[in-house]
Amino acid sequence: MEECLIYSKRCFLDDVFKEATIHVKHGKIHRINAGYHQVENIPFLDYQNLIVMPGIIDAHVHINEPGREDWEGFDTATKAAAIGGVTTLIEMPLNASPVTTNIKSFKLKQDASKGKLHVNCGFYGGVIPTNKNDIEDLIKAGVFGIKGFLSHSGIDEFPNVSELDLEAIASILKPYDIPLLLHCELTDDDVPEVTNPKSYQEYLESRPQHWETNAIDLALELQKAFDIKVHIVHLSASEGIERIKLRKKETNRLTVETCPHYLYFNAETIPDESPIFKCAPPIREKANNDQLWDFLLDDGFNFLASDHSPAPPERKQLESGDFFKAWGGISGLQFTLPILFSEGKKRGLPTEKLISLLTKQPAEFLGINDKKGALIAGFDADITVWDDTLEIPILEGTIQHKHKATPYMNEKLTGKVMHTFVNGVQVVEDSNLKTLQQGQLLLKKIYD
Ligand SMILES: [Zn+2]
Repeated sequence: MEECLIYSKRCFLDDVFKEATIHVKHGKIHRINAGYHQVENIPFLDYQNLIVMPGIIDAHVHINEPGREDWEGFDTATKAAAIGGVTTLIEMPLNASPVTTNIKSFKLKQDASKGKLHVNCGFYGGVIPTNKNDIEDLIKAGVFGIKGFLSHSGIDEFPNVSELDLEAIASILKPYDIPLLLHCELTDDDVPEVTNPKSYQEYLESRPQHWETNAIDLALELQKAFDIKVHIVHLSASEGIERIKLRKKETNRLTVETCPHYLYFNAETIPDESPIFKCAPPIREKANNDQLWDFLLDDGFNFLASDHSPAPPERKQLESGDFFKAWGGISGLQFTLPILFSEGKKRGLPTEKLISLLTKQPAEFLGINDKKGALIAGFDADITVWDDTLEIPILEGTIQHKHKATPYMNEKLTGKVMHTFVNGVQVVEDSNLKTLQQGQLLLKKIYD
């Protein structure tokens, strides 16, 4: 469909819901008319009371192709994204093999995505102790940021960096104003000995809050010393909030995200022998997560992202139930909207604020807010249409991820994505895939 008119009583325009008709033409939002506005010979899609909003931008996803496509892949991940109303995702430099730490592996990854993108996809590059001389090439080739770990990443080819390694690349990042994304956990031996590896409580205690806060302190110091953009991925420890708040009062070059699983689950209700819930940093206690919610409602988070990071059932140790041997990563890309909408309703999160955290705000972080993240004439026609009254049980048959195992299985959520448009083409109709391969590869434009 080259051209259509999308009508709803609730189009998300200028941060509020308004009755409008959106004219989509040649992949762009051509114009927006107030009210019900039919035009002869142009297909008119009357979505009545459904919410029509910009497509979700998920700025933290692990797709793992090439090299680990048995974990996830571009085809399945971007189908799941489309069904979930996600129209743009940004892929992490691990866990593909090779990892994205030089220009050669970045090209390999782009090649691997060809013909398999059902939503738009961009990439981050990675920093490891040995690739200082590759960072500038990665930036010039179009990565949206550089990601590093302060503790073991779980992937041997992606070793963690030291403070010195990060100081060494700060001057490379600075002129391009590219964010440094940090996995903030700094390990030490100040943890209890493990007696039962199948106990969630013991897993939780093995990755304490102070690992996160020590790493956050390092991140904040680095941000301040070099005045570079630093982004803290997947904040889990509430003890990190106060120091982040303080630094954010002084600079807009510090950003922070959290993920649906830290906002939806609580340690108290995670059963033993269930490593499907394993991620790092871990899902903490309810009292901690209530504070993450307070920070969210207080506009503390810059955006929310899935951190979709699945692995085959045997790697997740679903049989043995061993948290310590299992791969750490949550599978949930497809469910971000209903998870956050359902839990958000209980927590008093206005739908308008949730939409902004999933669209406009990640677009700002990525620097693509001149063409994505809002319904504005001239912007790319990436549009998600959903019903905020329909219940959506998570059932195996509805899951598009490569592996169906997810901690969200059988959860009863509210908020169903009905239609998804990517670059003006309807990729999802009535919650079913329609026209595939409409995604574009996104490269960050650099002005140097
Ligand atoms: Zn991640």
